[in-house]
Amino acid sequence: MARYTGPRCRLCRREGVKLFLKGERCYTDKCAFERRSYPPGQHGPQQVRVKLSDYGIRLREKQKVKRIYGISEKQMRKYYEMATKMPGQSGHNLLQLLERRLDNVVYRLGFAVSRAQARQYVNHGFFKVNGKNVDIPSYLVKPGDVIELKEKYRNNPQILESLETVARRGIPSWLELDAENFKGVVKSLPTREDITMPIQESYIIEFYSR
Ligand code: SF4
Repeated sequence: MARYTGPRCRLCRREGVKLFLKGERCYTDKCAFERRSYPPGQHGPQQVRVKLSDYGIRLREKQKVKRIYGISEKQMRKYYEMATKMPGQSGHNLLQLLERRLDNVVYRLGFAVSRAQARQYVNHGFFKVNGKNVDIPSYLVKPGDVIELKEKYRNNPQILESLETVARRGIPSWLELDAENFKGVVKSLPTREDITMPIQESYIIEFYSR
């Protein structure tokens, strides 16, 4: 299925939670969810109290995570398959795989204000991983990897501004930023505690394994 290109704030309102899809705007009083926290559409305000079925709850959780990371259904299913074949809890594995995506790491390190912007930068070849060009947003980083912004993009005003404001959301402990040298290092694999968004990953596993 094609990637969603409609209004992103609508997705937060549909999922009933802030998904932080629009960068700095999400932290201001212009946030659409802060203003209208009910679902979008003509009957949105009346839908607030609709009780979801067990299936509906699991479906919404899966959709929410897809939207947070900006990935397609096909990719999400692929991560589920990978997660269930790894040792440990499948739900944790799933979140870990999503966090290890290069576009997410670029966002987490503060080079971009949103994952969508990070994906665009990676697609356009702004970054090197361990000294080699990588333009695949789904590339999975591993401990020891060094992610570096290419020299010719280091004056990009949007990236500079993003690096200045990253402190607001914080850099997770599994990553380390060397802002002076436009580099980030993957110190370890992300743990469940590193993922602070309200996600019930067991629902996603249950959704796909039904
Ligand atoms: Fe969601 Fe950000 Fe839009 Fe608020 S501003 S509704 S958090 S995308």
